[in-house]
Amino acid sequence: MMLDLIEITPRKLNIKKIILCIAIILIIIAILAVFLYKHIEYRKLILAQKEEQMVSKQTYFTHKITYKQQIKQTKSIIAQVNSIYESEGKRAFLTFDDGPSQTVTPLLLDYLKQENIKVTFFLLGSRVELNPSIVKREYEEGHYLANHGYSHIYSNIYQSPQSVIDEYNLTEQAIKNAIGKQDYNSYLFRFPGGINGGKSNNLKHEAGAILEQCGVAHIDWNALTGDAEGKNTIEEMLDYVKATINDKNSVVILMHDASDKILTYEMLPQLVQYLRENGYEFKNMYDLIE
Ligand SMILES: [Zn+2]
Repeated sequence: MMLDLIEITPRKLNIKKIILCIAIILIIIAILAVFLYKHIEYRKLILAQKEEQMVSKQTYFTHKITYKQQIKQTKSIIAQVNSIYESEGKRAFLTFDDGPSQTVTPLLLDYLKQENIKVTFFLLGSRVELNPSIVKREYEEGHYLANHGYSHIYSNIYQSPQSVIDEYNLTEQAIKNAIGKQDYNSYLFRFPGGINGGKSNNLKHEAGAILEQCGVAHIDWNALTGDAEGKNTIEEMLDYVKATINDKNSVVILMHDASDKILTYEMLPQLVQYLRENGYEFKNMYDLIE
């Protein structure tokens, strides 16, 4: 038996082919690398875009919620103020208009502090600018600072609904400056002379509707001492205020702390005593809207 001897001869290496193969592999690797790189970049871009969308979505919702809360808050202030004359228990809101004054307001604040009674001041912007430190004291001692316009001159404030709004804004700014809080808003206005009656009756109601649209409530009173209507003795004032309180459950009592109203301050302890003896609790606007 003859064995075929197979001669294994090494194949001649075709260098050209090898170089070609390596070149092709390198080209493929390069193309893959470029694709991979582009893909990674693309994914990064998509992720960044998604993140941006999410952030803007969150911002949008945050704004929406804040806006909704603001609307809800101001609407509820208006609703609360509009139902101020109705309550289960007996309550009295002492309110003082036309201040602050250097003669009456500090004495009044001393007395209120001693009795731990918080009241509501309807401030005149022009007088706030003259006595900012008194306004700051009112605020710091827990009284509510509300808005009574700037001039109290009917021919100025009641030129048009816009002039009412202008005086409201001027007074708000004066209050912000006096207490050093630019984010303070009173949300509460009292028309000089009251909203009803007089030749500006329609204009006042128009302005009142605009204020409400802007989230600002307005309020008059349902009891008064007559201290701005010629009641010149403590007895006259007390008789008048008792007659107007007339056993109402919720009373908003109109008084004044302008510079000539010292008699109002002198009468106040007897009014406070009368209200306490008749079961009234003292409230201010903070109790109503917070
Ligand atoms: Zn007034």
